[in-house]
Amino acid sequence: MEKILNYIDGAFEAPCSDQYLDNYDPSIGKVYSLIPDSDERDVNKAVDAATRAFVTWSTLPAQERSNILQKLADLIDRDLDKLALAESIDNGKPVSLARRLDIPRASANIRFFATAILHTSTETHITDTEAINYTTHAPIGVAGCISPWNLPLYLFTWKIAPALAAGCTVVGKPSELTPMTAFLFSKLCVEAGLPKGVLNIVHGLGAKAGQAIAEHPGVAAISFTGGTVTGKKIAATAAPMFKKLSLELGGKNPNIIFADCDFENAVTTSIQSSFANQGEICLCGSRIFVERPLYEKFVDAFVKKAKALVLGDPLLNETNLGALVSAAHKQKVMSYIQLAKQEGGKILTGGNEVKPTGRCAEGYFIEPTIITGLNEHCRTNQEEIFGPVVTIMPFDTEAEAIALANSTPYGLSATLWTENLKRAHRVSAAVKSGILWVNCWLFRDLRTPFGGMKQSGVGREGGWHALKFFLEVKNICIKL
Ligand code: NAD
Repeated sequence: MEKILNYIDGAFEAPCSDQYLDNYDPSIGKVYSLIPDSDERDVNKAVDAATRAFVTWSTLPAQERSNILQKLADLIDRDLDKLALAESIDNGKPVSLARRLDIPRASANIRFFATAILHTSTETHITDTEAINYTTHAPIGVAGCISPWNLPLYLFTWKIAPALAAGCTVVGKPSELTPMTAFLFSKLCVEAGLPKGVLNIVHGLGAKAGQAIAEHPGVAAISFTGGTVTGKKIAATAAPMFKKLSLELGGKNPNIIFADCDFENAVTTSIQSSFANQGEICLCGSRIFVERPLYEKFVDAFVKKAKALVLGDPLLNETNLGALVSAAHKQKVMSYIQLAKQEGGKILTGGNEVKPTGRCAEGYFIEPTIITGLNEHCRTNQEEIFGPVVTIMPFDTEAEAIALANSTPYGLSATLWTENLKRAHRVSAAVKSGILWVNCWLFRDLRTPFGGMKQSGVGREGGWHALKFFLEVKNICIKL
């Protein structure tokens, strides 16, 4: 069985423990590869290598760093099919989605930051005739980049690309549930000529390898994407050490649909925002609020379209929904469907596990599930489920829609559907979330700030926000 290896100081290494964890293909429910069970010894080696490499990488001309990173992006494009297949097998997502979204975005992330770094500038402040101040931005040091399982290579590269472009060296840890594409990526780093130690990838459990990265005094900044509970733990460890922290956490995103919307577009895109990637995207809209005059028409059309989605083997091109990432996650999602019933919810469609015939009979599949009849305060509408489960609720006024949207501890993203421009501005301003999409969903321009309010995170990524996170600002004042 294939053994994934750590990538430390430019070499592929077994973990110090010599122990491995099972890595499952969730579409068939079977172990198909092994992943290093790394601990603080591996992290120490990785931080040492990154610290040594920082001396040269941080002083290399930006154009040279950019050239190497752009070569890496080209290699991802070259290996699109291979990486998409690996992502699908590791995560359970449809291979068509990985080919269309995950892998192209991974190379776009790298290319974006590799070129952005060539366009930086600094500020100068002249204090009358007395002094001139200029501001420099220097890479902060070794960065810890920790990423989740839902968009594995997409989010891993989203973290490491700005760090490497800025001149930091990195100790990265992909999710233990989906390590494969980061492993394949480490091989591309060697092929692209990335100097040894610039990027180090330590595989393993969050509580062991991840925690060791957060705790290591040689790591100056932590960029983390994952669950809110984990974010709290990382903040509790890293904040007293005065590490810089970027936390991209969970969501319970509202999708507000006004009666004057472009109906077809609203329904079709809401199907995407509810069930793409099995609902396992932090930006999925899991609470749909529909203005009452449109409510029944929307629910009917939405249920009809959800029933038409093809669930099953992720390797088939016609599949819309693949497998959930793990047996444990499938159980978690099913427990929320049970809870919704106990809370008085009515399941309009879905609600069941599925055992497809053939190859995927033992995989972790759940039908797209639509629930009505719940109020906004119940646990089903307050807690992140992170699966193919949405609730729909009616509303009567704009003020009520805003109050419903803001009724959770989360504030990552929101979607609005209306043809009324003034209302779009008003509601966008009032909804407490870091990202607002009006008449669209998951439309991403990588220059824009990305991140959450409230318990959805701290800080913003994207564009200059991401680059600046990895840069230490210094003001130099010269008396004239
Ligand atoms: P998770 O928090 O369980 O794990 C994320 C990563 O953190 C993994 O690599 C894990 O090994 C590591 N980790 C776990 N415990 C750790 C610890 N104590 N110290 C250091 N690292 C640790 O999240 P997940 O289940 O992999 O991902 C799903 C969550 O991620 C959802 O809540 C989702 O909303 C969120 N997410 C957020 C965004 C965003 O941009 N805001 C994007 C994608 C996913």
